[in-house]
Amino acid sequence: MTERLYDNGHIRQFEAMVIECNETEKGFLILLDRTAFFPAGGGQAADEGMLGGENVLDVFEENGNIYHLTKAQLKVGEAVCGEIDWDTRFSRMQNHTGEHLVCGVAHRLYGCENTGFHMGTFGITADLSILLNSEQVAEIERLANKAVFENVPVKVFYPDENQLKTLEYRSKLDLTENVRLVEIEGYDLCACCAPHVLNTGEIGMIKILEHSSNRGGTRLLIKCGYDAYEDYCQKSRSVAAVSASLCARQEEIAQAVEALKADKAKLEYEIESIKKQSLEKYISRLRATEGNACVFADDADGDGLREIVNAGKALCGGVFGAFSSDGNGYRYCIGSNTVDLRAFAKTFNSALNGRGGGRPEMIQGSVLSSKEDIISFLNAIEQ
Ligand SMILES: [Zn+2]
Repeated sequence: MTERLYDNGHIRQFEAMVIECNETEKGFLILLDRTAFFPAGGGQAADEGMLGGENVLDVFEENGNIYHLTKAQLKVGEAVCGEIDWDTRFSRMQNHTGEHLVCGVAHRLYGCENTGFHMGTFGITADLSILLNSEQVAEIERLANKAVFENVPVKVFYPDENQLKTLEYRSKLDLTENVRLVEIEGYDLCACCAPHVLNTGEIGMIKILEHSSNRGGTRLLIKCGYDAYEDYCQKSRSVAAVSASLCARQEEIAQAVEALKADKAKLEYEIESIKKQSLEKYISRLRATEGNACVFADDADGDGLREIVNAGKALCGGVFGAFSSDGNGYRYCIGSNTVDLRAFAKTFNSALNGRGGGRPEMIQGSVLSSKEDIISFLNAIEQ
């Protein structure tokens, strides 16, 4: 069984003896007498780093032994130096120990059990068994950060079977042997195999970014330490940009955005009223005609054109068209109570460089032709 040096979460460099070196398809599997490389477990990924000058590509545990995967061979019986990629490991320990604190506090305050835990570049998600409201989540975050400011020691110990029976601790598995307990006095006692920071002060800030309901409980998205700091920096830049853009104080941007939304809603209402008045103006000017008729309504959108056509075709013996300029040509809507427009659409589109179609009583599309050409075409087909 490999001696584990990661119980003390701060060993970054170590020396060890190569016990085995076996070639596999993926590379060489190195077994040492002792290691500070953590194999994946407890939700935390395997350590990265260097061993004997080689990159460690993977670390895993099998029957109590910890294997390191490298591309090159290491000599059995020789001493090698190992070095953990410390920035990555420390950040993971910050997040992981922060998760212990948050879940421990949630357990003690509200009786929540931890039903799921994932760590990744997105942060940590922790699933709790009870549905919590925003105030409860805020209280958990406040107490977890209080524990950070108090710089409480994070202790690791292996109680014997009798001692274990007397302890109340959080655990996802029902273990009775070699249980490794991680204690943050006054806040949490939890069975876990991963490396953690030595004192809560090292976690740095704990921030619960989101909470959502999940299978009757709560899912928390958490960032701690460096990750929380980077998140703060990124959000601070966003707030500063919005603040400058809206000429509002940073702490008042939410109100400023609400005011902007209210202004937008008012403008949209005014635009709708103007459109409606404009449509009513076109419709009020329509007169009964025996043949074809058309209206050019440049301020009408697709819905507006349809509304004009619905009113116009009822007064018209032939086809009735409504047109609005779209920059290059005209958008059209044509309706008729007497002519089947599916055949008409083909002639119309081909004569006026257009595209579009629809139902026998109404077609829509666009043409790349002038107003004069459209009027001439509609006059010509009457004769
Ligand atoms: Zn842990």
